[in-house]
Amino acid sequence: MKITQKLETASKPSYSFEYFVPKTTQGLHNLYDRMDRMYLLGPQFIDITWNAGGSDGSHLTPEMVATAQSIYGLETCMHLTCTRMPAEKVDEALDAAYESGCNNILALRGDKPDENDMQDGEDHFTYAVDLVRHIRSRFGDHFDIGVAGYPEGHDEQDDSSLLMQHLKDKVDAGASFIITQMFYDVDRFLTWVQECRDAGITVPIIPGIMPISTYAAFIRRASWCKVVVPDYFMQAIEPHKDDDAKVRDIGADLVADMCRKILAAGITHLHFYTMNLEKATCMILDRLGVTPEVDAVNPLPWRQSLARNRR
Ligand code: FAD
Repeated sequence: MKITQKLETASKPSYSFEYFVPKTTQGLHNLYDRMDRMYLLGPQFIDITWNAGGSDGSHLTPEMVATAQSIYGLETCMHLTCTRMPAEKVDEALDAAYESGCNNILALRGDKPDENDMQDGEDHFTYAVDLVRHIRSRFGDHFDIGVAGYPEGHDEQDDSSLLMQHLKDKVDAGASFIITQMFYDVDRFLTWVQECRDAGITVPIIPGIMPISTYAAFIRRASWCKVVVPDYFMQAIEPHKDDDAKVRDIGADLVADMCRKILAAGITHLHFYTMNLEKATCMILDRLGVTPEVDAVNPLPWRQSLARNRR
């Protein structure tokens, strides 16, 4: 089912989880175990990221999408970046997603294209909007297409009205929902959502929520994505920076408060960047009191499938 349909019919609030492709086979098995446990939390859909430029392990993205769709019965959104990759590789990934029953693609540019990356004569894409157009022209309405939005700006574009125009171009080209970059300043996010609406963007905007696992990871990711960390976050977390469990506990309180404020503003779906970890996301969902009752006896989908394959 398409994500926009899921969002319309889901009980509210709802949530989804993003996972990235692990580097090793052991990592992949660990992730499937974790996905199994997190399946019981009842996400509306999951995302699998794409390694930019089709680099190491990107072939695993369609494979993981197929596994999630068929074994977990989970609605899956496949990320796909379009730069530094020939058009035929893009098409291979789209065909694989189509064949696995996937209905959702997050269409991304990925790293900035480099003139040296492409051989003369190769077809290629420059911006995410090119990929959105390509998917629509090749697959019609089969896929819901999501695109990335940046409430606090994008480091290649200082002019916020141009950045907004580029987001609108992606929607006008056929995108049906937006997932945002992580943020911790909810007021700023809500102001940006209003600016999107004022610019005529009417599709669902899904906030990207980054849980806090450790102090080092929190600071690293916030600075990597160049997002503002409100003073009260630092005041609460910094004194405990050497105590991971305490940081996670305080972080869960802070991020759950953020989520409550977002939900109170009428946005009913939260997208968690799990970073392939479960604890910090589970703690936030627990605090929000939104997870379903779990039937602990019911075997999990991935283990059921392993057992079937061993027979
Ligand atoms: P675009 O929408 O193409 O924008 C990129 C820049 O180009 C912006 O500054 C924009 O203003 C500018 N621009 C757009 N159109 C034009 C135009 N016509 N003329 C001039 N300038 C223009 N990366 C990965 O490698 N793998 C992933 O799985 C992945 N998942 C992500 C998920 C989310 C929710 C987000 C927010 C980001 C993700 N990224 C991922 C990172 C993303 O690839 C980078 O942020 C990248 O720099 C921009 O991608 P985009 O799709 O937003 O690009």
